[in-house]
Amino acid sequence: MSLISVRKTPRYDPALLRQAVEEHFAALEVEKDLAPGMKVLLKPNLLAARKPEQAVTTHPLLIQAVIDWLRDRGIRDITLADSPGGPYTEGRLRSVYAASGMDTLAGVKLNLDPEAAPVEQPRGKNCRRFDVIGPVRQADYIINLPKVKTHGMTVVSLGVKNLFGVVPGLGKPALHYRHPGWEDFAGMLLDLADLIAPAVTLVDGVLAMEGDGPSGGTPRELGYTFAGRDLFALDRFLAGAVMGLDPEGIPMIRQAGERGWGTEAPVLTGDALEEIPPFARPKTQDTNFTGYLPGFLRGPVQAAMTRIFRHRPKILREKCIGCGRCAESCPQGIITVTGGKAKIAPRGCISCYCCQEMCPVQAVK
Ligand code: SF4
Ligand code: SF4
Repeated sequence: MSLISVRKTPRYDPALLRQAVEEHFAALEVEKDLAPGMKVLLKPNLLAARKPEQAVTTHPLLIQAVIDWLRDRGIRDITLADSPGGPYTEGRLRSVYAASGMDTLAGVKLNLDPEAAPVEQPRGKNCRRFDVIGPVRQADYIINLPKVKTHGMTVVSLGVKNLFGVVPGLGKPALHYRHPGWEDFAGMLLDLADLIAPAVTLVDGVLAMEGDGPSGGTPRELGYTFAGRDLFALDRFLAGAVMGLDPEGIPMIRQAGERGWGTEAPVLTGDALEEIPPFARPKTQDTNFTGYLPGFLRGPVQAAMTRIFRHRPKILREKCIGCGRCAESCPQGIITVTGGKAKIAPRGCISCYCCQEMCPVQAVK
């Protein structure tokens, strides 16, 4: 049985967030898992150095509520870790912590050690070896803390996609390079999620993002938090029932179903979900004409359509500030910055949209 806890959480108010965390974790019986001396790892979404109100990163007040809940149960060894986009260095981590408000958190260690090592994934179908950052390898217990967002390449960024951040820095473009097809990449993400296997996922859906996520979309007030232990069932529920998207048109969710993961109808507990208007899809995903087809055909037809009609990124020269973030993240190495402006070579693009994701001024369309 996949139990999903739904709580109305209309704003980032410490008392409301604390109550939501209490109720989510009571419903999922998280306390039973904990033991004195455990190393607990919090894995938020820290994609880039953005302020909490930009809806790119998991909100620090929700994370603080989780830390306080753990400390009240005697857990003292709590570490927060993620590898943002770009190089995995102490300097980059410090700047992301400062911008996203993580440096205001109390009672947690913010990881500053850019150490990582390979881990085998014997069950991997698309990928059997991942570089994984140190605190994730060393943790006894992992709490996954994603945000509800759309995503140019993977359609949604929820629990599964959030775990891509356990791969250090430029190891991420390397995985894009090794898995250039959207379907292959989705399978790789599932292998990684199966390897990391967080004990519980608590989702920040207070302020979500729609449109051209995960960094250049539009913040959208959603007013809920969600939690579950079955990561794949939770993603399927959030994409379909909350964001109003077709889960079968999202490769990583459809493929999870093909592996037999997350397909069981979930049991909901907590607050009723009100009618939510569908989320705006990323422009890169607007080639879905499959709504008239029977459900079993939608996934394969959509996959073929997006291959044929795939969007390519374009640099808006008037906005570009020449920072080079896109170039350092491009797995194909086809972006150069000359004369203070980025330029994408005409061939070689695999439509991963890492360049769009990392651009701090939304100069990639
Ligand atoms: S140009 Fe952008 S979308 Fe194309 S491969 Fe490079 S990072 Fe990915
Ligand atoms: S396109 Fe964006 S990320 Fe790339 S150099 Fe210009 S401003 Fe920087």
